[in-house]
Amino acid sequence: MSRVFNFSAGPAVLPVEVLEQAQSEMLDWRSSGMSVMEMSHRGKDFMEIAQQAEADLRELLAVPSNYKILFLQGGASTQFALMPMNFVKPGSKAGYIITGSWSQKAVKEAGKWCQAVVVADSGSPNYSEVPTQDDLDLGNDLNYVHYTPNETIDGVEFPYIPETGDIPLIADYSSSILSEPIPVEKYGMIYAGAQKNIGCAGLVLVIIREDLLNAKINKLPSIFDYSVLAAADSMYNTPSTYAWYIAGLVFQWLKKLGGLQAMAARNKRKADKLYKAIDDSDFYQNPVSPTCRSRMNVPFTLANPDLDGLFLSEAAQNQLLSLKGHRSVGGMRASIYNAMPEQGVNALIDFMQQFASRNS
Ligand code: PMP
Repeated sequence: MSRVFNFSAGPAVLPVEVLEQAQSEMLDWRSSGMSVMEMSHRGKDFMEIAQQAEADLRELLAVPSNYKILFLQGGASTQFALMPMNFVKPGSKAGYIITGSWSQKAVKEAGKWCQAVVVADSGSPNYSEVPTQDDLDLGNDLNYVHYTPNETIDGVEFPYIPETGDIPLIADYSSSILSEPIPVEKYGMIYAGAQKNIGCAGLVLVIIREDLLNAKINKLPSIFDYSVLAAADSMYNTPSTYAWYIAGLVFQWLKKLGGLQAMAARNKRKADKLYKAIDDSDFYQNPVSPTCRSRMNVPFTLANPDLDGLFLSEAAQNQLLSLKGHRSVGGMRASIYNAMPEQGVNALIDFMQQFASRNS
């Protein structure tokens, strides 16, 4: 068996221990005689898997008891639409902080349902900063304020949590959930697609405060209504059972490694050394202000873009894969989520230094 270092932005690298456990339980989950994939979602065995995963996540993130945790389908993109539908009357307002490609997508979707007000925009087309608290233009008729703590494409991460007073704050944590502790009580809602730091694609987590759940602003089809999905414990329809199970294995892996404080220290170490290697060289460059550089997604460019193709093919020969930047920004991007081992970052830095000295 040969495993590469996979720097993909998502679906992304998973912990080997998790994959091995899934492999060992593939044909016969704990003497049930069947794979988790084959179980009824309402049977005793899957209920146990589902409840354990939720309890472990609640413990890892210290989720307060007045928040529901939902394990849903439809990805983060579906939440772009469901948020305004659940929390805003058509024609009323929701606020959006724009810091990159994903928050732009979120505001665009909201604008189809309600008045989507930009409360700050840190500067299209090249996002390299986040707005300060003072930059936020918070009118009191906003039903919520939405932001993206980590912009996966642009590599921009908020170093602080915006203060929005009585206005519920909603965060798209798709690419940085579980990378460090989060004070959940500061949020009305948090959501995150699973295919980066949680597990495999097909699952999205929504953590939502009960008063928002119970607000019942609009009459919606059941499958779009968070209160219906919560009342059914995420089983209004058949959930993504296997993705839910893999998420549970990842939560146990995180607990074994010491929880989110330990992950935060490890992630900081990995990101710091990669940014240092970039900053110390004239050959590579990262465009993001050092105050808001992402610890999860590190975009960088080569001084001579004609060398991009050679860089990618030689990296692949060295088992360093999926380093091509998003098509909208070009260059390179190394996604270094929780499951990327520190040896992977070390190997990337070694390769980058060798490539620079051979091609300078
Ligand atoms: N938000 C962010 C920050 C993301 O990184 C992504 C996916 N890369 C999405 C939303 C969209 O997620 P999905 O594909 O699960 O809809």
